[in-house]
Amino acid sequence: MWYFAKHPSGKEEMISKNYAKERGSHYESDADGLCTRLVKPVPKRGNYDYSVDKQAFIDLGWRIKEKDIKLGELIGKGEFGDVYRGKYREQKVAVKVLKDSSKAATQQFLTEASVMSALRHDNLVQLLGVVLGDNIQIVTEFMGKGSLIDYLRSRGRSVITRKDQINFASDTCNGMAYLEKEKFVHRDLAARNVLINDDCTAKVSDFGLARPVDSNQQGGKFPIKWTAPEALKDSLFTSKSDMWSFGILLWEIYSFGRVPYPRIPLANVVTHVSEGYRMESPDGCPQEIYDIMTETWNINAGQRPSFTETAVKLSAIRANTS
Ligand code: ADP
Ligand code: MG
Repeated sequence: MWYFAKHPSGKEEMISKNYAKERGSHYESDADGLCTRLVKPVPKRGNYDYSVDKQAFIDLGWRIKEKDIKLGELIGKGEFGDVYRGKYREQKVAVKVLKDSSKAATQQFLTEASVMSALRHDNLVQLLGVVLGDNIQIVTEFMGKGSLIDYLRSRGRSVITRKDQINFASDTCNGMAYLEKEKFVHRDLAARNVLINDDCTAKVSDFGLARPVDSNQQGGKFPIKWTAPEALKDSLFTSKSDMWSFGILLWEIYSFGRVPYPRIPLANVVTHVSEGYRMESPDGCPQEIYDIMTETWNINAGQRPSFTETAVKLSAIRANTS
């Protein structure tokens, strides 16, 4: 059964709900073996327990007192809360305030914070702490230039250089290589979920859907144009499905923020892709970058490159780009 709905964190991308089918355990012995190293079979609904409790944040020292945060202007709207500019101990921060205080929403929100608290890398948006007041707030480093998608669209071809593009691609890939090494799967990698700071460093954000590899919680909502075929079809989310999304993100960077699969109606994208259709190289995109895109869109997840390998390639291209 297919359902289409607006993705809350973006305008044009549509999502399918309950698209992923539940899987049995048989694919553990699948021939290609490569993705089975990273995933366990999806448990039946309700079989997982990834509960995070407020006390855990306090014990781990992640609690920030409400009075230590000064809220500023609204800078963005997310699925679970509004994002404000803020100040925490003289540091510029971003504060996501949970709007829905139901138990399920609180749980999801704290899950996002707990994922972020386990991860630390220069190319991941850093968690600073959590305010456990009437409204739960997630405090992160402030990314002054906003999301990569807005950055690409607002500046465009006339302002953004080859060097900027390779920097964004390489930064994002470095952050993802770290996630891959830590065995975290992002599941929603896209230019809208990469943020740019005042120094123009790109960092991966929006860990709302990221889960430890073996937790396999089903979110049920996927941005179709960014999600790998096996993830849409069989809920097989791995670093290799993140790699497919990274290829789409590269295409977004080199097309200056166009919506992927232009001119193909969303409802036809999955069929086209399953029949072997792939996007063309964006105008002016270097061949070596398009070669990477093509590799990431291998239908066989096991044959896609790793983020670690790709990060090495992108670093070399970065060093050769002036
Ligand atoms: P959701 O994942 O629920 O959609 P996001 O975390 O993507 O919400 O945040 C929504 C928007 O808020 C982003 O697109 C961005 O414009 C802004 N935003 C989020 N986090 C930050 C941050 N750390 N610094 C600056 N702006 C941010
Ligand atoms: Mg988002």
